[in-house]
Amino acid sequence: MKLALVWFRQDLRLSDNPAFDAAVRSGAPVVPLFILDDETPGDWRPGGASRWWLHFSLAALKDDLARLGARLILHRGDARRVLFDVVREVGAGAVYWNRCYEPFATKRDEEIKEALKAQGTEVNSFNGSLLIEPWDVTSKSGKPFRVFAPFWKAVSSNLKAVPPLPAPDNVPSQQGAAPHSESLEDWHLLPQTPDWAGGLRENWSPGEVGAKKMLKSFLSGAFGQYAEARDHPSQERTSRLSPHLHWGEISPRQIWHALRNADPNAEHVSKFQSEVGWREFSHHLLWQFPELPERNLRQEFDDFPWTENEAHLTAWQKGETGIPLVDAGMRELWHTGWMHNRARMVTASYLVKHLLQPWQAGERWFWDTLVDADLANNAANWQWVAGCGTDAAPYFRIFNPVVQGKKFDPDGVYIKYWVPELRDVPAKSVHAPWEMTSPPSTYPTPIVDLAKGRARALAAFETIKNA
Ligand SMILES: Cc1cc2nc3c(=O)[nH]c(=O)nc-3n(C[C@H](O)[C@H](O)[C@H](O)COP(=O)(O)OP(=O)(O)OC[C@H]3O[C@@H](n4cnc5c(N)ncnc54)[C@H](O)[C@@H]3O)c2cc1C
Repeated sequence: MKLALVWFRQDLRLSDNPAFDAAVRSGAPVVPLFILDDETPGDWRPGGASRWWLHFSLAALKDDLARLGARLILHRGDARRVLFDVVREVGAGAVYWNRCYEPFATKRDEEIKEALKAQGTEVNSFNGSLLIEPWDVTSKSGKPFRVFAPFWKAVSSNLKAVPPLPAPDNVPSQQGAAPHSESLEDWHLLPQTPDWAGGLRENWSPGEVGAKKMLKSFLSGAFGQYAEARDHPSQERTSRLSPHLHWGEISPRQIWHALRNADPNAEHVSKFQSEVGWREFSHHLLWQFPELPERNLRQEFDDFPWTENEAHLTAWQKGETGIPLVDAGMRELWHTGWMHNRARMVTASYLVKHLLQPWQAGERWFWDTLVDADLANNAANWQWVAGCGTDAAPYFRIFNPVVQGKKFDPDGVYIKYWVPELRDVPAKSVHAPWEMTSPPSTYPTPIVDLAKGRARALAAFETIKNA
């Protein structure tokens, strides 16, 4: 009997995995494969924090598969070559995968599909990552959506809580010698010298089991206060599911199903669902606009007078801008590989507006440092903050990080945690320590005066406003 090859990608789980489920159900012996595709052309290979996550997620998947009697095969290289080598080596009659949506991945997968079919190998692809395929949702006029509210109205009103697929009890496996596999350790996905991943290890448990635990503890804990508390970075009231969702250790369908008995009219429920909806919308945008990660969707921004400044960019990356909420967010990111959404909005706005740095510079830094770095979500949100997306905050609305801090971190708990230089500063001064008669000498003074930075950003915007 011909083998069924399951190509795992961003679906590193065994439950509710349509490709894996179909392969197992086919009755053919199943060979699970992961390819570290560092060679397909494209500029968005996983960054440092993502590679750390991937190491542990693959280790967990390998163990989970072993418990079902299957061995995960690992290969590195251009998937357009490696996949065919493995198909030949194991004698696969069919290949199964769940779809990815990054432009380079869709192009690559299309090429692979055609070539496999041409050689007589069956190909089965599935939706394992989204509640709805980006091309399956259109406005009344039949066009893709560009604005979130009508998109989400159209999607959410038609969503059913489809029961997720259970993980199989066992996997029909190949008899005889196992196919060749590389070793995960030899991929060196973990940082060596320096080992900057201590904070990541303290904070995260990559893998399907970790993802399910995270969802369970969120739903039985912070969920009830999600609507009010989600904006307060010191309160840890969000789900922290983003890296698990990115790597497909949990599916949005499993999340949706877990909410099946919750009152859809309760604010915490609808708010949480709509955040999951933003993830869907970002993928809808990336599918419509493959240039989303690189180019302004609003073309007038092509002439925007950014003032690239290496020193300012570095100060922002290191959390040394002298603006407490910005520095707290950037240090949280560096230490944990994650940043609270409110802090992401404030740090991003500060970079793009007060510092006038191109949004792509911030997007790159987030790409390398976030454990949840996701091409669709990252790009769509940076374009949203910069004001150059289809459904974006207007450029002239500039977050004031002091006002944001007073509103969402009134006692400075988040700031004091991440910026220890300010621990002894009274709460009333912690958002603007430069106004104190004797500010702590160890903390930098602002690299840019907030009022001047704001005025400069507005002036820059004036130059393209009527373009
Ligand atoms: C500049 C900027 C860059 C960002 N980059 C990323 C990124 O690379 N990867 C990423 O997953 N999110 C990104 N986000 C969105 C958001 O900040 C994170 O998804 C969220 O903070 C993750 O925490 P959580 O899982 O606790 O979220 P929750 O509040 O618990 O939300 C549940 C899930 O909904 C999705 N979600 C929530 N907010 C958004 C949003 N604004 N856009 C898209 N999906 C959302 C995520 O998958 C999240 O896990 C970015 C936001 C900004 C402002």
